[in-house]
Amino acid sequence: MTVECTKVGGVNLAQGICDTEVPAVVRCAAQSAIDGEYNIYSRYDGLGELRQALAAKMEGYNRLTYDPETEIVVTVGATGAFYVVANALLSAGDEVVLFEPFYGYHVNTLRVLDVEPVFVSMLPPEWRFDAATLERAITPRTRAIVVNTPANPSGKIFSEKELLQIADVAIRHDLFVLTDEVYEHFVFDGRRHVSPASLPRMRERTITMSSLSKTLAATGWRLGWIAAEARWAQAFGPLNDLFYVCAPSPLQLGAAHGLAGLGPDYYVGIVSEYQAKRDQLCAALERAGFPPCKPQGAYYVLADISRLAGRTSRERVMELLRRSGVAAVPGEAFFRGAGGHHLARFCFGKTDADLAEACRRLQKC
Ligand code: PMP
Repeated sequence: MTVECTKVGGVNLAQGICDTEVPAVVRCAAQSAIDGEYNIYSRYDGLGELRQALAAKMEGYNRLTYDPETEIVVTVGATGAFYVVANALLSAGDEVVLFEPFYGYHVNTLRVLDVEPVFVSMLPPEWRFDAATLERAITPRTRAIVVNTPANPSGKIFSEKELLQIADVAIRHDLFVLTDEVYEHFVFDGRRHVSPASLPRMRERTITMSSLSKTLAATGWRLGWIAAEARWAQAFGPLNDLFYVCAPSPLQLGAAHGLAGLGPDYYVGIVSEYQAKRDQLCAALERAGFPPCKPQGAYYVLADISRLAGRTSRERVMELLRRSGVAAVPGEAFFRGAGGHHLARFCFGKTDADLAEACRRLQKC
């Protein structure tokens, strides 16, 4: 959709990139790392300064204590983290449970490794799942459950109660829980992000993955991390080395210094800024006759575009692009079969000017 959008000079609400600014303190720190000639490979599991900064962040925000020396691995984004973890823990023929709507990279990474994704549906508007359905999805071949909270594309924030239900299943069936928490700071309406590993008896079986892509609006820097007990984390570092050698080192140093320089105001600012963007886009979609499903977190809105001509969501988003010059992602990218044919995903991680222009165009569509 990004390619199609560029062809017509449209406003791109398709790709999950935030166009907002990387905080100055982080940019300057990275610049001095490059100027100071810190341009060589870092240690295979990441620069000490960054592992320490991430451990401190997790202690404060996620209520989790990890040893930066043995339990944190800096990766090439959360995408690199998921690939490393899947390679380390899963084998061809294993099954992994995911919630639908899902993030396609999770599903496709598993498929590349001949691991079978098994889906548990979540239903709008709250995107709730049925604990009995989750239980029925488990077979002797199941190895893990993937939890993406806050979720792309639904914006669902798994509540503590739901996470406890998942924990109960994982503990009884001796499964890993693989988390993707890249939107951990994008939580709206006073909701709280709960890291699954922080729940009772979950630290030992949870592999926590996150990233600075969204938090620092730096998707191109490719900085993510894995936190897990040392017995698992020690398997991830060597694979990270094998696949990527290391994440970009001057950017690791910049992020480490930058994280130390960002006060609590920065994170509070993310919530208020993105909540306002969410409300602006949801209002515009509503007025345009594309009823939105108001997200609780992350920075996407799933909206019903069934009033547009087309048999599939792919045809409908192309019609939307033709008529309004606004690009979105077809809903079918996040569901099996015909699941998302009436839906499109719109990203609101945009500058104020681009978001206002997209809203204006949508209303004229
Ligand atoms: N996980 C989710 C749920 C995402 O939406 C995205 C970005 N689209 C990523 C991971 C990618 O994160 P990173 O840039 O850290 O690889």
